[in-house]
Amino acid sequence: MIYLDHAATTALKPEVLDEMLPYFTERYGNASTIYSLGREARKGLDAARARVAAAINASPDEIIFTGSGTEADNQALNCALALEKKGKHIITSAIEHHAVLHAAEGLKKRGFKVTLLPVDEYGLVSPDALEKAMTDETALVSIMMANNEVGTIEPIAELAKVAKARGAAFHTDAVQAVGSIPVDVKALGVDMLSLSAHKFYGPKGVGALYVRKGFRVAPFVLGGAQEKNKRAGTENIAGIVGLGKAIELATGDLEARSQRILAMRDALIEGVITKFTGSTLNGHRTKRLPGNVNISFPYVESESLLIHLDFEGIMASSGSACTSGSLEPSHVLMAMGATHEQAQGSLRMTLGDENVDGDIVKTIEALGPIYEKLKAMSPLYQKGGKTLV
Ligand SMILES: *Cc1c(COP(=O)(O)O)cnc(C)c1O
Repeated sequence: MIYLDHAATTALKPEVLDEMLPYFTERYGNASTIYSLGREARKGLDAARARVAAAINASPDEIIFTGSGTEADNQALNCALALEKKGKHIITSAIEHHAVLHAAEGLKKRGFKVTLLPVDEYGLVSPDALEKAMTDETALVSIMMANNEVGTIEPIAELAKVAKARGAAFHTDAVQAVGSIPVDVKALGVDMLSLSAHKFYGPKGVGALYVRKGFRVAPFVLGGAQEKNKRAGTENIAGIVGLGKAIELATGDLEARSQRILAMRDALIEGVITKFTGSTLNGHRTKRLPGNVNISFPYVESESLLIHLDFEGIMASSGSACTSGSLEPSHVLMAMGATHEQAQGSLRMTLGDENVDGDIVKTIEALGPIYEKLKAMSPLYQKGGKTLV
């Protein structure tokens, strides 16, 4: 089995599970209680908060634990409602995760004007375009730090500066970035930042929202005083402890890990592009997450590629896990100006810690006969494509 879908989720590290387990069994207390069992849970919660803060250069009181990256994104976007006095305009990009795009749609229903910034052919958002889109009514800007489909890394510090200069709040969805590239909230100058444990070898169903000291975040889930009234509900202590351990591991040796993964990424890109005539890399060649490969194959549909790769024990994706399965072309690739064919024939392979060089060789080898077979079946290829190649 070769797992090449780390952008969708990652396997829990054994060291992370080890730290989580006692919180399911002997340390099961509710962190809001005062007896020792509850205090133990509180200690686990506090320690995890300190670890998350340290990993992104924040202070512990700037971290709110949430039920997922999706929830953190929703809470951030929801803050626009509290900023209404500034104006009812928000700006985001056309290539955001649906957690941001659908939350923006929700604001639209509540009378907000939503501007979706375009991206260039590499998926980059331009600070100049943001500058032009800003108005005195712009309350909130949300641009992702790294894209989940094509891995493009956005110029967040510059974008945040533009937004702040006009008095707007700035949020970044850093769910793909944390654990893959350095993330320093102070250097970025953002008001809010989302992250999610299961994207860096932590458990699913737990995330965090960084909120800059002095920025008033609105509660999103209501019903209790947990997380200083900013996120109600009994805390998922085991999950939060897992998030803390996972972020410490992932950011502790980030440089060495990402260098190793980046070398495999480049070998996979070079190998595929040279072997398969007409295949093209989607996204930026260097402003790219170390583990992301996204390539379009002419004449074939990614769903067929995925099924055949699965027969060979190779797990990849056609874009985001949420859109594969539907036959809609990727909104990210379409925004980057890809043709329908390029978007339909895109294959995303995202690498992680368990991958080894042999996986790259085997994947390129497996793709050979699969692509030949599918191409031969393609009416488009038969109609005249042959002469093109
Ligand atoms: C995975 C992902 C999310 C959603 O996080 P969950 O914890 O799975 O809800 C949001 N944004 C991006 C960019 C992601 O990759």
